[in-house]
Amino acid sequence: VTHRVVIIGGGFGGLFAARHLRRAPVAVTVVDRTTHHLFQPLLYHVATGILSEGEIAPPIRSVLHRQRNAEVVLGEVAQIDLAARVVRSNVLGSELATPYDSLIVAAGGATSYFGHDEFALDAPGLKSIDDALELRARIFGAFEMAEREPEPAARGPWMTFIVVGAGATGVEMAGQIAELRRHTLRSDFRRIDTSAARIILLDGRPQILEGFDARLAERAMRELGRLGVEVHLGARVTGIDEHGVAVEGAGPELQRIAARTKIWAAGVSASPLGAQIAAAAGADLDRGGRVKVLPDCSLPGRPEVFVVGDLMSLNDLPGVAEVAMQSGIHAAGQIRRRLRGDDEPRPFRYRDLGSVASISRFYAVVQFGRIRVGGLLGWLVWLFVHLVFLTGFKNRVSALFHWAISIFGRARTERAITIEQVHGRRVPTAEAQIGESDLGR
Ligand SMILES: Cc1cc2nc3c(=O)[nH]c(=O)nc-3n(C[C@H](O)[C@H](O)[C@H](O)COP(=O)(O)OP(=O)(O)OC[C@H]3O[C@@H](n4cnc5c(N)ncnc54)[C@H](O)[C@@H]3O)c2cc1C
Repeated sequence: VTHRVVIIGGGFGGLFAARHLRRAPVAVTVVDRTTHHLFQPLLYHVATGILSEGEIAPPIRSVLHRQRNAEVVLGEVAQIDLAARVVRSNVLGSELATPYDSLIVAAGGATSYFGHDEFALDAPGLKSIDDALELRARIFGAFEMAEREPEPAARGPWMTFIVVGAGATGVEMAGQIAELRRHTLRSDFRRIDTSAARIILLDGRPQILEGFDARLAERAMRELGRLGVEVHLGARVTGIDEHGVAVEGAGPELQRIAARTKIWAAGVSASPLGAQIAAAAGADLDRGGRVKVLPDCSLPGRPEVFVVGDLMSLNDLPGVAEVAMQSGIHAAGQIRRRLRGDDEPRPFRYRDLGSVASISRFYAVVQFGRIRVGGLLGWLVWLFVHLVFLTGFKNRVSALFHWAISIFGRARTERAITIEQVHGRRVPTAEAQIGESDLGR
């Protein structure tokens, strides 16, 4: 009987695990609640109109179509039965039980609002295609609203963009909106001067780009200053609503900022599947809700179950794509070795390939070992790394084409938005409507 490997999640961890099993005598099933393998590091290029969502999110089944021992199942995993070795998933009321001999849990995480889930309504995160399309609509839609506003004074809140969280995602997002308003949109509008839009980047910590060398962060700060981004550190966001943001610690004039567009780039929480399996196996969670695994990435007491990527807590490794890929490959390697009769668990050793954040056209910061690079050279490294890791040859060619348009022509091809997207999460769902009419009765 063929050994069955079920992989939950077709992100970086899950996909690299699946690929590493392509020559193994196993039957692989990848279960994901979306149909696509999402390249999250480029979501901000979708949110700011440079790339299309298809370029960063190829279908998982097409990525694996040549891998004969792999199948892909659409479904949200609601329960993992560790004792019966079954994964239960459902989608649109259709339920499915998928049995396994080995399991790799690579379910990643979601946006965390640090206990303020109500912020989600007015400040989308940047974690999914839906988030990116909603943000794109909100950003381009805000300029449209400012243009039709007859009172110049009333345009201010539409022309103010707040990014909460100055990690790589927040910095990259702020830089892109800055370039958009100064170059791409400037000649398209008649009443407003788009270059006058304010971009405010807020963070509670004392430095931007946490995890980066302080000197590189300093260089990135200067580049943001050149782009006209207002950066406020030590600024804690205490409230967000439709009209603006309440801030503590950034001075009296910033206690309340009127802004219609808010972007939450501040936190990530682990998938609830982590807490579920940790409770069932008696394993611990770290402060971020990630599962503390054994050195070989397996769940304590359950050698047939591996947790990898953003959901894994091991040696304080950061939640980055490279950790996910390498830990996915490691878990797959453990399964292959066991099938060859080698039961000796091997510890996962992470090879740090460095970090990169691009601030603007031709400007990125890179750190790799002792090497620190900023500016054009850093940007070329950024371009190379993203081209290499973007999934699919066609996507690479097409992304390169779109990058060339945005870099040399300052234009952005992906600017189609709909009013429904602008409303985003404010559109009442069918369930909410039923709830409201129930209340009315
Ligand atoms: C905006 C952004 C920018 C980033 N930039 C960088 C960067 O520049 N460099 C870098 O190294 N890292 C970056 N990261 C982090 C990197 O993307 C993650 O570390 C990486 O994606 C983690 O991989 P993963 O496989 O663990 O999880 P993910 O890639 O999140 O994949 C998880 C998969 O599991 C699926 N899933 C989740 N729950 C369920 C369920 N219950 N049932 C079925 N399927 C489920 C999801 O649909 C998803 O496909 C960025 C992240 C974000 C959000």
